Amino acid sequence: MDGSTHRLFAASTSLAVSTALGQPAWQTVTAAVIATASSAGWTSPDADQSWLWWVPGGHRGLTHWWVLPALGAVATAWFVPPEAAWALWALLLGWSSHLLGDFLFGERPPGIPFGPWWGYVGIRLDSGGGLERGLRWAMPGILLWQVWVYHGGAPFPTVT
Ligand SMILES: [Zn+2]
Repeated sequence: MDGSTHRLFAASTSLAVSTALGQPAWQTVTAAVIATASSAGWTSPDADQSWLWWVPGGHRGLTHWWVLPALGAVATAWFVPPEAAWALWALLLGWSSHLLGDFLFGERPPGIPFGPWWGYVGIRLDSGGGLERGLRWAMPGILLWQVWVYHGGAPFPTVT
């Protein structure tokens, strides 16, 4: 999955969670910014292509291991007060959405590692291919729909 698709997917995921939790607007917007920032580029699992080049497994190695955000979630739940934890949850959500995107899209290596940097699993959709391009073009519309739902609209328009 390309960086722009990762960012749009993270924003969508964050907005869905904020809507489900009924978070206030300031927190919803801030969480979306944090999740978007941790979903692509040097602050994401793809930091293994820049300043984390030395991490075992190379690209889609240890930084793409699903256990890392799972441990982050356990640590956040145990050690961070709930009123302050939302920002860390947003960061973990962005990171995890990146892993889900790479699980769905990507052939070399195929998916993400089940072990720390081996045993790859994934759907192997064409990264940068037609399906991903279509998703990328649809995401702004999906995000607008999500904002409408967040503001109290029904999930689907109904004819009365
Ligand atoms: Zn990646």
